[in-house]
This record gives sequence, C-alpha cells and structure tokens, in this order.
Amino acid sequence: MNSPLYSIRMRSARGGHHLSGAERLGSAEDLEQLAAAMVRRALNHTRGQAETIELSLEILDQAQVRCAELPDLHTRLVSDWRQGRQAAAQLLRQAGVSACAVDEAMSAIGGGAAPDGRSMRGAMLIDAASGQRLEPDRARGVRVSRMDLSSSARQALGDRLQVLGLDNDHVREALVLAGKVLTAPGIVAELCWSDDPDYSAGYVASPQLGYVRFPHLKPLGEERGGRAFFIAAGTPDLQRLIDYLETQPVLFDRIGQLHAPQPWGE
Ligand code: AMP
Repeated sequence: MNSPLYSIRMRSARGGHHLSGAERLGSAEDLEQLAAAMVRRALNHTRGQAETIELSLEILDQAQVRCAELPDLHTRLVSDWRQGRQAAAQLLRQAGVSACAVDEAMSAIGGGAAPDGRSMRGAMLIDAASGQRLEPDRARGVRVSRMDLSSSARQALGDRLQVLGLDNDHVREALVLAGKVLTAPGIVAELCWSDDPDYSAGYVASPQLGYVRFPHLKPLGEERGGRAFFIAAGTPDLQRLIDYLETQPVLFDRIGQLHAPQPWGE
C-alpha cells in the first residue's frame, strides 16, 4: 500500500428516515469520484430521492488496516421466499445458531426490526444460543464500516461475478460487508435480506459455510429487510466487537472461490 487510504461513508435520509448508506476505502485521488458516485446513488434510490445526504471522509492509520480474503460465494436456488427462509434457517442451524435465535432473527427482520416497525439502519446482534437481542440501540443497530476491496481484488471479483451474472452493487457490497463481519471475534453466522423493494435476494454467511446467497428471501415489493449477526454465547466484550465492526479498517486484497448456482436440496 503506497498512498494513504481514506474511509468515505455516505448516509442518506428521506422524510426523517434512513434511506441508504455506503462505505468505501480509497486513496486521495479516488475520493472525488467515490463521493460523486455516492451522491448519485442517494439521489436515485428505489425507495425515493434522498432529502439529506451526509458524507464523511477521514484518513486511516495505515498500520491499522487489516488485509483479508473474501469468503467463498455459493448460490442456492430456491423456488420462492418461503423455501428460501426454510433453507436459510437450516444453514444457520448447521452453523451453530439455535432454533429460537433463528426464529427471533427472522421474525424481527420480517416484521421490521426497529421499534417503529421499519428496517433498522444497521444490524441486530443476537445471542446465537438464547436468541436475545444485544445491540444497544434498536433503531440504529450496529453499522459495519471501513471495509472495501483493493483495486486488483475489485477487478478480479467483477470478472468472476460477471460470468455468474451477479456483477452488481448488491452482491459486491454484501460480500464485502459479510466478509468483514466474518473476520470479527465471536461471530457465529450472519443473516441478511435487503430493504430494497426490487431486490428479493439475501444470504447466510458463516466462517465454515462462506457466503451462501438465496435469490429469494422476501417477497418483491417488501421494504422491510435487515441484518442479524449471531454472536457466540458468552462473548465477553460486546463493546470490543461493536468497535471492531464499526471502526476496524479491513481491505480485501484476495477473493474467495465463486461457485455456480446449485438448486437447494442437491
Ligand atoms: P441492504 O442490503 O443495503 O438493502 O441492507 C439491508 C439491511 O441491512 C438494512 O435495512 C440495514 O438494516 C442493514 N444494513 C445495511 N447496511 C449496513 C451496514 N453497513 N452495517 C450493518 N447493517 C447494515
């Protein structure tokens, strides 16, 4: 790494509610273009045009940047969101999440996990054994930040995703976010489906399973989505985990294997 890296983050809102966010890392000469792309995106969101857009940029301490490899990607084909959720639940159980923790996560995300019944801005933290929610703020949740791909990894990932017909922002960004979550201490697994009404896909990720994508985890048109990070029971220092997820810079300089889609059940 020659030139210093900056973190650039965007958060947009409409009608006083969170609309979208984005996280990238880049060198000084990348920042203008990254900022423009983030503003464009906030103004063209499927849930409406942003009314407020906050950008925040900061230089990172290079010694703190951790390099890592992305998880392997799998796609398991399911016929609809109900089958998708059953399959996702089965994988979460396999990853070591209790049945009650899976139920808690799915019903919270499906019903809108924030206190007002909308999607949260960040993720829930759920005890993988008891199903108890542990995030200190149930509207904000925990926002994973300060992660990105190196430019060579971005190129390699784009090339491989294109072959699979998956080269889009949703997949790229979710893979990077899940990748960072899986490097955090005490994480057992993750569950996500989008809050974008036009995007029904979601995933389960765990250190053993990698990133497993399901084309359907919610009905099209549904605006409620969310993320649950399942934490090993008795993780001693929750604040340390939150600090890691929110502030530790992680740069993915290697990609994992990208597998062709396979029907669920095979
Ligand atoms: P998205 O995949 O961007 O549609 O986001 C789906 C849900 O994941 C959102 O409704 C949030 O609850 C959560 N989320 C989005 N971005 C983050 C993030 N950076 N960190 C943690 N949770 C997030």
